[in-house]
Amino acid sequence: MSASDARDRLIERLSRRRDTSERVLEAMRSVPRHEFVPDATPERAYADRPLPIGDGQTISAPHMVAIMVDLLDLEAGDRVLEIGTGCGYHAAVTAELVGESGAVYGVEYVAHLAEAARDRLERLGYGGIVDVLVGDGHEGWPEHAPYDAAYLTCAAEDGVPDAIVEQTREGGHIVAPIGGRAHQELVRLTVTPEGTDRESHGGVRFVPMVDSDS
Ligand code: SAH
Repeated sequence: MSASDARDRLIERLSRRRDTSERVLEAMRSVPRHEFVPDATPERAYADRPLPIGDGQTISAPHMVAIMVDLLDLEAGDRVLEIGTGCGYHAAVTAELVGESGAVYGVEYVAHLAEAARDRLERLGYGGIVDVLVGDGHEGWPEHAPYDAAYLTCAAEDGVPDAIVEQTREGGHIVAPIGGRAHQELVRLTVTPEGTDRESHGGVRFVPMVDSDS
């Protein structure tokens, strides 16, 4: 099967099974997921499953990317902080939604994953929208704050790090898996003048967020 047929089939499946917005489906239709997982066949690249990307890390299943992107309520022109860029796939989907007038700032702990993601995003035409920093996401990326939205693709055991909340504007959403190895839930925080409001969106399983202090 060709990559574009496999991609169409995935989008068709996501649109039937999930309550995904048309905008997010369109964004996912535009991103060549097989370019982010070069060792996978088209069938595997476009299966609705997580896939290994090296270093014990995984790229989330497409439906999880769709759910997370939908929860952020992104608009064209938004500036978004991403923690855990991995191979860059999720960042590319976000880039499709914020467009050329927006920006995605990705922080990735593993240097060679960050470098490979940066090169790949550049080659696929996302270089003007996505920027990738090698660093510890617990610090966020203060230089480009405030962000309209933020998300983590690795699980924070003790809740969303304070720096990320501080770098997100009032009214902005933060979507993150929270918890340890045994139990994690996907939460959406909304930044308020007093702190944050929190909604839960069910149980999930993500790789843990590395804590460089421990
Ligand atoms: N969104 C990615 C999948 C990422 S998997 C994609 O589309 O490919 C989670 C990523 O979080 C891994 O690449 C891992 O190295 C990274 N990570 C783990 N702890 C981190 C930390 N403290 N700061 C930044 N990135 C971290």
